Amino acid sequence: MSNHYCQNCGQRSTTIFERKASDFPRNYKGIQDRNIAVCQRCKDCFEENENSLKEILSSDHKNKLILGGPGTGKTFLFKNIVEDLPENSNILVTTFINNLAEDLEKRLSKISNRRIEVRTLHSFCNSLLRKIHQYEYFPELPIIIRHDAVLLDSAFKEKDFSRTFFNLEKEEETKFYLSRSKYYNCVGHHDVIYRTFSHLNQNEGAIPQYSQVIIDEYQDFNLLESSLIELIVQKNKIIIAGDDDQALYRFKSASPEFIRKLYQDQQFKNLFLPFCRRCTSVLIEAADAFIFNAKKRGLLKNRIEKEFKCYWPDRFLDSKKYSSIFLGKFSADSVVSKYIRERVFSIIKEEEIQPSEKDEPEFLIVGPPRISHYLQGVNESLTKDKRVDSNIFKIEFKKESKSLSINEGYEFIKKNEESNLGWRIIMYKNPVDPSLEKDKKIIRKTLEGKSIADLLPERYMNKHKERANSISLEEVKSTEDSLSKKIKIKLTTYLSAKGLSANHVFVLGLENGVFPKDPDNISNDEACQFLVLLTRARKSLSLLSVNRRFNRKLRRRPIDNLSFFVSMIPSQFLEIRDNIRTSSFDNS
Ligand SMILES: [Zn+2]
Repeated sequence: MSNHYCQNCGQRSTTIFERKASDFPRNYKGIQDRNIAVCQRCKDCFEENENSLKEILSSDHKNKLILGGPGTGKTFLFKNIVEDLPENSNILVTTFINNLAEDLEKRLSKISNRRIEVRTLHSFCNSLLRKIHQYEYFPELPIIIRHDAVLLDSAFKEKDFSRTFFNLEKEEETKFYLSRSKYYNCVGHHDVIYRTFSHLNQNEGAIPQYSQVIIDEYQDFNLLESSLIELIVQKNKIIIAGDDDQALYRFKSASPEFIRKLYQDQQFKNLFLPFCRRCTSVLIEAADAFIFNAKKRGLLKNRIEKEFKCYWPDRFLDSKKYSSIFLGKFSADSVVSKYIRERVFSIIKEEEIQPSEKDEPEFLIVGPPRISHYLQGVNESLTKDKRVDSNIFKIEFKKESKSLSINEGYEFIKKNEESNLGWRIIMYKNPVDPSLEKDKKIIRKTLEGKSIADLLPERYMNKHKERANSISLEEVKSTEDSLSKKIKIKLTTYLSAKGLSANHVFVLGLENGVFPKDPDNISNDEACQFLVLLTRARKSLSLLSVNRRFNRKLRRRPIDNLSFFVSMIPSQFLEIRDNIRTSSFDNS
C-alpha cells in the first residue's frame, strides 16, 4: 500500500504518521496544504529540531550560549529571536567575517519595527570610538608604525604590534604604538578594539545598552576581544553563538578556550542546534568519523561534545543522489585543473544549472594558501576555455594580498594635502631617498610633532600630488554587477572558505606536506580546518590529490602520499579513483 512509503522522503517505513504538509515543504510529492504521511525518521527529525528551537526561543536566561556545527541554522535562529522581541527593540548583532555580516544584514533587515545593527566587531568598535573623537581609520596602520620603528631604530622594530593588543600585554610597545597613531590621528585594525576595550573599561557608563546583543563566531575571539565582550555582558542581555570545532584563527591569538570557558560558566545557559540543513548525510557522517579519529590521535582535546545530525526531511534528495565523497588521485597538477573544468561542465549539464542571482556560488574551489599555483592553474584552465562565456559565468578569484598600495596614500592626500598618514604611506611605498637616510631624518622630526608635508622635498611632493590627481580612485574600485544572473564559480584559499558554502565543492592539495604540513605533527588548527572544508558542500564534495609532484621548488622531492586527513575518513564514505591521467577524461 502506498501509505507504507513516506510522502516526504519516499522511504519505505513500517510506521507512518499524519503531519501537516507545510512542515515538510520539500516533500517529493509536492503536497503543499493538507496532511501528508511521513516516516519515523522524518517525523523524529522534525520534532527534535522543533524542540531544540523552542528550547532556545523560550529560554529567558539573560546569557545564552548557542552551540551548533556548520550549517545548523544560526542565521535562521537569530532571525527568529529578533522577531520575538517587542517592537522598537534595539538589537546589536556582531560577527567576525565580512561575508557573514552581509548575509545576516540582508536577512535581518527585512524585519520591520526593530532597530537592528549588524556589524563586524571592528565596525562596532569604530562607530563607538568615532562618537568620542574624529580620526582616520586605516586597518594597515601597524605596518606603517612598524616601519617607523625601523626608521627610528627603535627597540620595537621587530615587534608584531597586533599581538601586543591581542593578548593585552601592557608594555612599552603599546605606548610607542599609541603615540605614533596619535601623530597620524589614525586608528588601525587591532587597536580599534583595544581602544574600545580600554575606554569602556574605564567608563562603565559608556557601555552601550541594547534590548538584545547577539555575538556570532565566538570561537574566533582572542583575549582582547573576549574581554571586551565581558564588559558588554555586564549591561546587556546576550546570546553568544559559536562552534569550537571551527576555531581557525590561532594566528590572531584566538583560542577556542574562550568559548569552552563560557560553556563551563554557570552564568550562561548552554543550548544546542543539532541539525545541519546544509550538508548531505554522507558529509555529516564523514565529519563525525573524522572527529572520532582525530580525538583518538589526541587532537581536538577538550572539545565541547555536541550532536551534529543531518536534517533528513530537507536533505534526503541530495543525500540519496550524492551518497559518497569523491576522492581523486591525479598524475599531475595540470590534470587536476582539467578534471575540475570538465567536471564543472558535466555537472552543469547533468543538473541543468541555470545562471542565477543568488550570491552563493554554485561551485567552490578551495586550495592551499601558500602554493598559489594550485588555484592559479584551475583559474587559467577555466578562464581560457571557450565555453566559459562571461555573460553566463562569473569566476571569482581574488589573490590574497595584504600589502599596502600607494593609492591608499593618494586617497588620503586628495582629501587633505597635509595628511601625515597619506604622506607616510606614500613614503613607505616610494622612499624619498633609496638609502632611507632622508626618510629617517623626516620621521625623527615627526617625533617633535612636525608635519610630514613641511619636511618633504617639494619635487617629491609635486610628483606625487600630480600622480594622485591623475588617478581616478573610483576606477580602482571595480563596480560589480552582482545583480546579474550568472553561474558563479569561486576560487579561494582554505582559510577564506570559512563561512562559505556551495552546491559543489572541490578541495585541492590533499597531500602530506601540503595539508597537513607535517603528518607527524598535525595541529588542532589544521584538523579544524579540514572539518570546515568537509562541511562546505550542499551536494557534492571532491577531494583531490596529486600522486607525484614535480615543480621548481619541490623537484627531486616528489610528494606522493595522500593527506593523512583523508585516511581519517572511513573508506565506505569514499568513491576512490586512482591514477587519473589526462587521457582518462579528455575525450569525454
Ligand atoms: Zn521520510
